[in-house]
Amino acid sequence: MKYRCVRCGKSASTLNGFTCGCGGTLEVVHAFPEVSLDVFGQRLSHIDGPFSSGVWRYKELIHPRIGTDSIVTRPEGNTNLYRRGAVSSYTGVERLQLKHEGENPTGSFKDRGMTVAVSEAVRSGANIVACASTGNTSASMAAYAAQAGLKAVVFIPEGEISYGKLAQALAYGAQVIQVRGNFDDAMRVVKEGGSELGFYILNSLNPWRVEGQKSIVFEMLQQRRWQPPDWIVVPAGNLGNTAAFGKALRELKELGLIDKVPRLASIQAEGANPFYRFWRGKHNRLEPMKPDTIASAIKIGNPVSWVKALDSIRMTDGAVEQVSDTEIMEAKAIVDSSGVGCEPASAASVAGARKLREMSDIAPDEEVVCVLTGNLLKDPENTVKYHLGELQTVDARRMNKPVQVEPDIGSIEQLLKQLNGQPMEAAVSGH
Ligand SMILES: *Cc1c(COP(=O)(O)O)cnc(C)c1O
Ligand SMILES: [Zn+2]
Repeated sequence: MKYRCVRCGKSASTLNGFTCGCGGTLEVVHAFPEVSLDVFGQRLSHIDGPFSSGVWRYKELIHPRIGTDSIVTRPEGNTNLYRRGAVSSYTGVERLQLKHEGENPTGSFKDRGMTVAVSEAVRSGANIVACASTGNTSASMAAYAAQAGLKAVVFIPEGEISYGKLAQALAYGAQVIQVRGNFDDAMRVVKEGGSELGFYILNSLNPWRVEGQKSIVFEMLQQRRWQPPDWIVVPAGNLGNTAAFGKALRELKELGLIDKVPRLASIQAEGANPFYRFWRGKHNRLEPMKPDTIASAIKIGNPVSWVKALDSIRMTDGAVEQVSDTEIMEAKAIVDSSGVGCEPASAASVAGARKLREMSDIAPDEEVVCVLTGNLLKDPENTVKYHLGELQTVDARRMNKPVQVEPDIGSIEQLLKQLNGQPMEAAVSGH
């Protein structure tokens, strides 16, 4: 096992500084042991221990050599794959599935990368772990650091992360440092802290995060009995998932474990779309921008993993698309009212699938898996504001507004008549 710079190709044997001397990001290069899909199938019967995790079940493809006593696992993964008629109708894609990563222990897919990177931190003897975060990375890191007994320091953009996520980081006992700036400023500080202050960095700059996130693809394929869909659609912020999914598919193909490689679609918010603009433009470098979107988890203007992500999109003959905040919140309202529910950034995948279908990139009979990255309860403020019609930049066409009433049965009956346009008895006598 070694590391390779994705920009200049140079190999390294340690993660020293977390970036290559040329400034490029590193990826893990494995010498894979012999493995078959049957092994992963047999492990589905494990009810405890590392192989009951939806990440460590695929240990041979993620971190073959780590000893099980270094592994820090909740366990994570084992998230559901849903079909919902309302979401299929909305996107125009009949055969659509939702892979709900909000069902992980701390409520987002970040746990999949974190279990691997924290285990590696333990293995390598780290003391202080650190990350910059739009919220979910800090929540996840704080929980896994607490479990492993490591000191955790999180850098968050002041006033920009949702309460659900901030609450987790504080509650799990991390030292929270609010940076007067945006995520990209916080990320820069952490990178400097990595080399100057000896922090063990747990952002997706850390290639072990990416290794863990590959398991989203492995688990989803296993749930589909190793039949790849035509498309995998994922929200894109720092581009760690886009990078991880491409690497997962490339490795599965090289190992002969799948024949067909699904196309990967990476979906950005219009106000935080540097990767989309790069993909559409003619520059040979990504141009950082000042990000602005209601979907705080993808509010990133200078994504760390763009070189790897570009590789993923090219390798899978994929697509990069953008969606507006109104499209994101409307797709979220559809996912939410189907009973599944997700946080705003997650719904970018569903909004993106709808857009790619409208533009005929996705054909109506193709099979699509949209990844929902985070849990509905992560961002209650924006969900409530949407349904109250209080989001300035969003046209809330799927509003579900609460109503007020006096606490007596006559007023309630009156109100229900107004709401339903029918007398109460009719509804009651149906029983
Ligand atoms: C981190 C996060 C993203 C962005 O993922 P990247 O891998 O950084 O592109 C999207 N949605 C949610 C809920 C997240 O927590
Ligand atoms: Zn390099």
